[in-house]
Amino acid sequence: MVVGVLAIQGDFEAHAGVLVRLGAEARIVRTPADLEGLDALVIPGGESTTMTLGIEREGLAEPLRELVSSGVPTLGTCAGMIMLDRDHLGLLDVSARRNAFGRQVQSFEADLDLNRLGRDGPLRAVFIRAPWVDDYGEDVEVLAEIEGHPVAVRQGNILAVAFHPELTDDGRVHAWLVDQVRQHA
Ligand code: GLN
Repeated sequence: MVVGVLAIQGDFEAHAGVLVRLGAEARIVRTPADLEGLDALVIPGGESTTMTLGIEREGLAEPLRELVSSGVPTLGTCAGMIMLDRDHLGLLDVSARRNAFGRQVQSFEADLDLNRLGRDGPLRAVFIRAPWVDDYGEDVEVLAEIEGHPVAVRQGNILAVAFHPELTDDGRVHAWLVDQVRQHA
């Protein structure tokens, strides 16, 4: 199983580490050719403006849209959630609000209940200048909220979380991605 990790910018190495621990092969994605034959995709956190420019520079927007809309299991985290939204790649029927928790709140941790993802027990989530979902369409399932704001959503083959699951030892979010591939194999 080969999982691509978009490596335009951001903390892609940590994602690759988690995927390898789960028994997948992680492939760093920098060009459209790197998307060939991927079984799953991760769009990591980072800085969404920089990531948008990098995606344009490399001609990755259209190939990414094709891959994700073909049904390949996809995980977007933090800025990755923003990249997937209506105003960016347009793959997820949500509007993400950047730095939604306010500039003062640079980072915080919270326990989230992700049972609707079939993962037992609370998950410690690390938020860093995180977005939240402001608005979403009817095909979007909200998996977790903070103070009424969605911070984990799923639409078909796409899971987007506002936090950084690659920064803790809890591999359950990445395990969802790997399980999706196994189920559809
Ligand atoms: N605040 C960043 C942005 O808007 C996202 C932060 C992150 O990915 N940790 O792009």
